[in-house]
Amino acid sequence: MTEKPTLPVPLNAHKTQHAVLTDPNRIGTAGTSLPVPNPTTSFWQTEPLNESSVSIGVNEEWTDDVDICIIGSGITGVSAAYHLSKIFAQDGSLSPDEPVKTVILDAREFCNGATGRNGGHLTATGYDGFVSRSAKHGLPNALREAYLQEHTVNSLVQLIKDEHLSDAVDLVSGGFVYVFFIDEEEHNAKEDVAAALNAGFAVRRVEWLTKEQMEQEYGTPYPGIRLPGNNLWPRKLIQALHALTLRRSPPTRFTLSIHTFTPVTSITPISDEESTKIRKRRWNVNTPRGTITSSYILHATNAYVSHLLPHLHGPEGVIPGRGQIMATRASVGRLPLTAFGANEGFEYWFPRPLKSQADVDNERPLVILGGGREAAERYELYETDDSKVDEELSRTMKRFLPAVFPGKFEEGKEPEMEWSGIMGFTKTGDPLVGPVVDPNDTSDVDQYEGQYICAGFSGHGMPRAFACAEAVAGMIANDIMIAGGSKEKWTPPSWIPLHYLTRNE
Ligand SMILES: Cc1cc2nc3c(=O)[nH]c(=O)nc-3n(C[C@H](O)[C@H](O)[C@H](O)COP(=O)(O)OP(=O)(O)OC[C@H]3O[C@@H](n4cnc5c(N)ncnc54)[C@H](O)[C@@H]3O)c2cc1C
Repeated sequence: MTEKPTLPVPLNAHKTQHAVLTDPNRIGTAGTSLPVPNPTTSFWQTEPLNESSVSIGVNEEWTDDVDICIIGSGITGVSAAYHLSKIFAQDGSLSPDEPVKTVILDAREFCNGATGRNGGHLTATGYDGFVSRSAKHGLPNALREAYLQEHTVNSLVQLIKDEHLSDAVDLVSGGFVYVFFIDEEEHNAKEDVAAALNAGFAVRRVEWLTKEQMEQEYGTPYPGIRLPGNNLWPRKLIQALHALTLRRSPPTRFTLSIHTFTPVTSITPISDEESTKIRKRRWNVNTPRGTITSSYILHATNAYVSHLLPHLHGPEGVIPGRGQIMATRASVGRLPLTAFGANEGFEYWFPRPLKSQADVDNERPLVILGGGREAAERYELYETDDSKVDEELSRTMKRFLPAVFPGKFEEGKEPEMEWSGIMGFTKTGDPLVGPVVDPNDTSDVDQYEGQYICAGFSGHGMPRAFACAEAVAGMIANDIMIAGGSKEKWTPPSWIPLHYLTRNE
């Protein structure tokens, strides 16, 4: 049995990170600016699904008037457009001369925020934190969180299969193994799984692995838990979702345009007298290319949300934090195609699939490894500059895999690529989903009428954003249909945690 190695990262850092995250004196101006224009290149940018979609809408005719303006072309914004198109394609209540016109705007190229720069994991871990979540938000909401993640992952994987996209997006459903570096984490996980099972949530195919089994199967001397899990090429998935939305939208019901490299710099109200459209235009969305008038706005800007919504700046809103990833080669061939996480989720990694038998025989697998923030003084919180990587953090991460899998990775080996990306954290770890609400506003008038938010995924967006976007798209669509006289008020689906909702009636 291999001796437990000395790990290069601190353990048990989550509590101190949370203290830094919620310290109102640290925030400064972080998060109030636009994304920097020159981000590092992520591995996911090396191969677009479709070259032309990266800078889509830059040279195309300007869209100056829409019903819905979605700000952000990451998984949240594009999923919202996808769900809206689905709702309006099915709903016959709209007359052909009033299709719902929608635009997506992004400050950068297509999908080059957190979604285009992340770790590529798509795994539901709704059991994780079940005990504390039940205590904080009640058992029904702990269950809803678990269902939300299952619903998101199942919906996305099913969609990928139905559309025959598995190869195009490199879907690998090879499972997920969480490695327990300390006994306390294993103990807590056992309590979480038991509580979730007890509450009626079927934690799917969980296997507890002893350190001997982990040593034999994976070559690491720590115990673990194995569950179903996936990894994929996130940006290709979002490009495919966008293409599907366009393909499916009947132009008499729903239209979608997109303008990349178009930052929204401000949003200003339109007075009632100025609005002449069927659906009342409420907002001017201002960009350096021009202004768009719109009835509804969806803020799908995650870490950058407080640039346009200043009341969300600070620990009561969304706090930016930089994550760092490297693509590094193993020093042995043939690693199991399993994804891993460890150390309260700070570290996460998986080997990329090899495409051909020749590759399998000759190549060493490339591993996508994220983490190391807990080794940095401020946990990389309040950092919004993803044009660079932190050198110290990089040195730490080069020692991580060689320590966890002795003999399978060469210590100090230079990664083939390294990049960073900006996450949006909330103090509860939960996203904000629903109408924009400013709790400090005591006036009777809704200052943000028609504006919605879906942001703050706190580093765990892939198994939540698609469904949260489904919920917020449902709210906007219902509002449009109520205004047209044809729908009941939106009611939350059974899988959305009620504490996510900005207005929980
Ligand atoms: C390094 C890293 C690793 C991660 N790994 C994982 C993982 O493995 N699994 C997982 O589940 N989650 C992971 N996450 C988190 C996950 O990527 C996010 O939660 C998710 O992608 C958020 O999606 P989004 O669409 O809400 O935001 P984003 O993808 O960030 O999209 C927001 C978009 O808004 C645009 N924007 C911002 N402001 C404006 C403006 N004013 N005008 C116009 N456009 C604007 C940005 O350019 C950006 O494209 C990781 C995140 C990072 C950074």
